[in-house]
Amino acid sequence: MRCVASKFGGSSLADAAQFIKVRDIILQDPARRFIVVSAPGKRFEGDVKVTDLLDSCREKAQTGADFTRELDVVKQRFVDIAGALVPGFELDGEFDTIRRVLKAMPYRDYALSRGEYLCAKLMAAYLGFDFIDPAQYVHFNETGELNEEWTNDDLACALTDLKGAVIAGFYGSLPNGAIKTFSRGGSDITGALVARAVNADIYENWTDVSGLLAADPRIVDDPRTVEHISYRELRILSYMGASVLHTDCVRPVSLCGIPINIRNTNRPQDAGTLIVSQLPEKREERAVTGVAGRKGLSVVQVEKSMVSDGAGFTAVLLDIFKSHRVPFEQCLTGIDTISIVIRGDLFAPAREEIMRDIETQLKPDTLFVRENLAMITVVGENTTRAHAVTVNILSAVAAAGIRLSTINQGAGNLNLIIGVEEEDYAAAIRAIYGVIKTENLN
Ligand code: ASP
Repeated sequence: MRCVASKFGGSSLADAAQFIKVRDIILQDPARRFIVVSAPGKRFEGDVKVTDLLDSCREKAQTGADFTRELDVVKQRFVDIAGALVPGFELDGEFDTIRRVLKAMPYRDYALSRGEYLCAKLMAAYLGFDFIDPAQYVHFNETGELNEEWTNDDLACALTDLKGAVIAGFYGSLPNGAIKTFSRGGSDITGALVARAVNADIYENWTDVSGLLAADPRIVDDPRTVEHISYRELRILSYMGASVLHTDCVRPVSLCGIPINIRNTNRPQDAGTLIVSQLPEKREERAVTGVAGRKGLSVVQVEKSMVSDGAGFTAVLLDIFKSHRVPFEQCLTGIDTISIVIRGDLFAPAREEIMRDIETQLKPDTLFVRENLAMITVVGENTTRAHAVTVNILSAVAAAGIRLSTINQGAGNLNLIIGVEEEDYAAAIRAIYGVIKTENLN
């Protein structure tokens, strides 16, 4: 029998009306037996997420101040939902416990996790499903790293025979029993862990958009929704700034080839985006999957005559960045020149020392830094026209009067990264999207 793991994000659980939509979706397909929930999110523009409200409680508690008012706001969010849908659902005792624990030990991960904990309990009661507290099954090591195999075994044991379960997202526990959360947005990871543990046919990720868009809608008017994307393409686009899923949620499901389907709770009729290990065979379906980018990058350029003839120069250079704990984004090499692309905010505090080390250890002919650059990436794993598309993209950017600072293109599939001045970022994305639209029609 088919088995589906479905994760619902905060906007899908913001109030009673959203809870009703979620239940309708779940009841529509009996295979939807494993439900992972976030904490209630924003109900309207300017509203505050429950997780952020809880963080304010914790902040006050840490200074020893009274946080009753803040906690009452959180309680009211749950009272409103429970009052409408699960009359008699016990919240007084839960909030007394939270108040007591926060007063005695105001630690962040416990405070933040309570939104998911209560939301899952409430949703389980509403659906008549079992409630699963991940504190018992999602295990982190002493160092705070997820112990994925132990978690997988325990979740599989706990879940497999259940008819229906609601699992709180976003947290687990440390070996000493203390609550430990993932980074923000981490319920996506819990969803992926559950999907893997129950060997789901599909991992549905329900949110408030009908899938991944091929470009940032704040820059491009009405970009198209991506129907299929590979795990690898998603990883690249997310890394470069496209935000739909927590980047760490891909690993657990890609390990066993479970597709992720991004769906819209407010438009369940939309097919959404399917994230798969292998793109469908129709190789000419589309040439470009999407474009995304990031600002705030710097480039350190080192030039030394005859350096290409020797070995080890690049290794020493990269080692200097490593020793200052500044990870590099790209390393571009020419004849006798090497450019290292790094995040400006990470480079700034170590800049003087890094430049001094380069001067003394490598004695370059020239050394300079360019700041305030943006990097834009275009991906399309399924294209047979990668080179032609690259040419068209570069021409479109040039035709828009934009000067390129860097170009980086590996062999094979389309995975082009270009660097431009930050002020040209939006115009470059628009020019590139113009190419995507026409290429994908071919
Ligand atoms: N509630 C948490 C957050 O706001 C985790 C999540 O929604 O995935 O980040």
